[in-house]
Amino acid sequence: MEKKTRFSIIYFLIAFLFIMALEYYLFSRTIVTVSYSEFKVLLKENLIDHLVITQGNIEGKFLKGAQDRLITLRKESDEQSKKQLQEIHTFTVVRMDDPDLVKELTEKGINYTAKQEVTWVKTLLSWIVPILIFVAVWVYLLRRMGGAGGGFMAVGKSKAKIYVEGETKLTFEDVAGVEEAEDELKEVIEFLKNPQKFQSLGGKIPKGILLVGPPGTGKTLLARAVAGEAKVAFLSISGSDFVEMFVGVGAARVRDLFSQAEKLAPCIIFIDEIDALGKARGLSPVGGVDEKEQTLTQLLTEMDGFDTKKGVIIMAATNRPEILDPALLRSGRFDRHVLVDRPDIKGREEIFRVHTKKVKLADNVDLRVLASMTPGMVGADIANIVNEAALLAVRKNKDFIEMADFEEAIERVIAGLEKKSRVMNKKEKECVAFHETGHAIVASVLPHADPVRRVSIIPRGIAALGYTIQLPTEDRYLLTKSELLDRMAVMLGGKAAEEIIFGEASTGAKNDLEKATAMAMSMVKAYGMSEKLGPVSFDRSRPLFLETPWSSPKEYSEATSREIDEEVKKILLESLEKANDILTERIEKLKQIAHVLLEREVIDGDELKRLLQE
Ligand code: ADP
Ligand code: MG
Ligand code: ZN
Repeated sequence: MEKKTRFSIIYFLIAFLFIMALEYYLFSRTIVTVSYSEFKVLLKENLIDHLVITQGNIEGKFLKGAQDRLITLRKESDEQSKKQLQEIHTFTVVRMDDPDLVKELTEKGINYTAKQEVTWVKTLLSWIVPILIFVAVWVYLLRRMGGAGGGFMAVGKSKAKIYVEGETKLTFEDVAGVEEAEDELKEVIEFLKNPQKFQSLGGKIPKGILLVGPPGTGKTLLARAVAGEAKVAFLSISGSDFVEMFVGVGAARVRDLFSQAEKLAPCIIFIDEIDALGKARGLSPVGGVDEKEQTLTQLLTEMDGFDTKKGVIIMAATNRPEILDPALLRSGRFDRHVLVDRPDIKGREEIFRVHTKKVKLADNVDLRVLASMTPGMVGADIANIVNEAALLAVRKNKDFIEMADFEEAIERVIAGLEKKSRVMNKKEKECVAFHETGHAIVASVLPHADPVRRVSIIPRGIAALGYTIQLPTEDRYLLTKSELLDRMAVMLGGKAAEEIIFGEASTGAKNDLEKATAMAMSMVKAYGMSEKLGPVSFDRSRPLFLETPWSSPKEYSEATSREIDEEVKKILLESLEKANDILTERIEKLKQIAHVLLEREVIDGDELKRLLQE
């Protein structure tokens, strides 16, 4: 477009020059400019007539013989010019201050008229033309700016990506493990497929649907699949697209989005990551009416003014519903909340199935086992694992992806990419080996701890120098007190081992301590598992959609607070002691296994069991 405009300007210039040249050529052939002295001579000799006198110049007709006289006056010798001059019958001369001119003309009996000079032409030239040029340049520049990707002129335009009818090409087939959410959305699909019919049957459709769930569980995917299933247009925009530097731009975008949607109905407006836009008002540290607030208000207004009868459904996704402005969640707005939760083992198996559809699997790959190895993982993680496994298989020149590739991929995703470049000195490595062996032995001994799958001292990722992977045999939603205590002992097993062997702990236990402390805190404050404090919950966890999300007053005294701290400390100390006892009792095993680990870097679960039983 930019190129085109430049071309047309060049064409315009060429045409303009051409016309100028033509005019000059034609003009010069019919009229000749004479000097004032020549004019005076011609006048004296009665060779001119029919003068038109204006402010600036005089025009007139030549009489017979005038041309010849002019030629002699000019001492013209060039035949060509002589011939040209012969054919001209009109002349023009620039007027001079000559008070006797009129008298002279009258004496000679020459016809003359005076004429007002045509001033509007001059006005036109001196005013309109520059303005026109200015406007042209302006329009050209604006177009240029507007041309490149939204640009300057498009500030108020919504940045929504629009997928027309069915173009998302996704269906519920592509989303797995979120059956409940799909069921809830089926009604919406029915409505979008046939809004009129739905209305006449008296169905009431929610205006706004909020998809809530942790990151990577497939909220965005699900929204697109709804559009795909219903075969309607899908206007997708991210909450952060509304947040701009200029006040009022976000609001303009919201208006534009809704007017676009109206034209495309039936369709879905999807606002991804709405928390960027819908943060509770009044949370802004700057204060005053800020841009976000204005945008949010505009969104609320548009939603209120919107009629579902038109067949537009507004969907939004967030992983932080608790920070959303309560006004967004009121009835008539995003009043329907669909939970998109982390998938359970069955769900993960299905997600593995969806993502392995397009890759070649070896016979030994069991998706169910893979699902059991990935508790707590979400769809995005699983997609990542499959991708990683495929890459590993390719790197090893395999035709199929084998179970071993998946196992390695899972480890990578869990602990970050293998960092071969990191070198630990001998002492550090020893420390890590004893630390991890500590975890592993405590986990193997305690009855309620999850069995160990693998112990490794190959450093991975940024933080972990070594790791012990435990394999829960099933997803757990409920844990008993003894299970929690055993887990804490396992977490502190690393620190205990370091203390037993080296007489002091290292900084490597930081992460373990954090996790153990958090767990102890929950036991005391939330689960009522402390005998001293009794079955009281001090952890008034906020309900999902609270009217005032940011107020969380402490509801117990300072004395209670101190007691809680003491209880937490007691539980932690007891756990550490438990780990300590287990390891002290098996100090020979600890040393033996740690040395095996130092040698081989990795020990798997079965090997560990064998070593312990020896
Ligand atoms: P969210 O929006 O909840 O953060 P996304 O929808 O962006 O998550 O998911 C990212 C990617 O992870 C998807 O493109 C898809 O490949 C994969 N994924 C996530 N959840 C699922 C699921 N339930 N079924 C299949 N694939 C999934
Ligand atoms: Mg998303
Ligand atoms: Zn540890």
